[in-house]
Amino acid sequence: MNNEQAAQWMRQTAEKLVEHKDELSKLDQFVGDGDHGVNMERGFRAVVENLDDWKDLSLSQLMQKIGSALVSNVGGAAGPLYGTAFMRLGTAWTDVDQVDGPAWMSGMAKAVEGIAQRGKAQAGDGTLLDVWSPVAAILDENEPDWKKIEDAAQTGMEETESMVVKKGRGALLGEKSVGHLDPGAVSSFYLFQALAKTMD
Ligand code: ADP
Ligand code: MG
Ligand code: MG
Repeated sequence: MNNEQAAQWMRQTAEKLVEHKDELSKLDQFVGDGDHGVNMERGFRAVVENLDDWKDLSLSQLMQKIGSALVSNVGGAAGPLYGTAFMRLGTAWTDVDQVDGPAWMSGMAKAVEGIAQRGKAQAGDGTLLDVWSPVAAILDENEPDWKKIEDAAQTGMEETESMVVKKGRGALLGEKSVGHLDPGAVSSFYLFQALAKTMD
């Protein structure tokens, strides 16, 4: 991935989030406060608006910028979590020019670690981590298989439907949280679907 592809990834993600904004907010009505679609659209719109100013940055710097834009513009619980994930990609990719298999593997491992620390969450808690974690787990030294990444993200998202939510607002529902997809897992699926579409 180079800077231009990363920018394309962000545009594709923003497009998907706009398209699915109401669906994401509706899911968040079941397990939260109904704003996830609005939050994500606002955050990625801010990222896309800045991409032209960021086109000469290294990928490491670009990921840092995306991360801080997401922290400031998504807001809520998801902002710091998505923001941390991108900032961790940024720190993992210091001195990396062309992001290849090993860089994706180490970067995603750091991103997952960052989300887990920030959210005090683990895989199985019915959050966006249930998408990020299986995606990170299938990466190895080889160039990523983008179709497999999209599939892993989709499976991870689908599995949140049967989980008791343990973190975030959904956790207040206890057992009643079962039967709904986690909104953050669904938005993360769109993020990785957009990545697969950009890179494939
Ligand atoms: P808020 O709950 O503040 O309104 P959003 O609706 O934008 O924020 O985001 C909710 C999503 O954030 C959830 O669907 C879940 O995926 C994720 N989330 C919330 N809290 C945590 C946490 N502690 N750890 C991991 N993910 C979390
Ligand atoms: Mg919400
Ligand atoms: Mg909210």
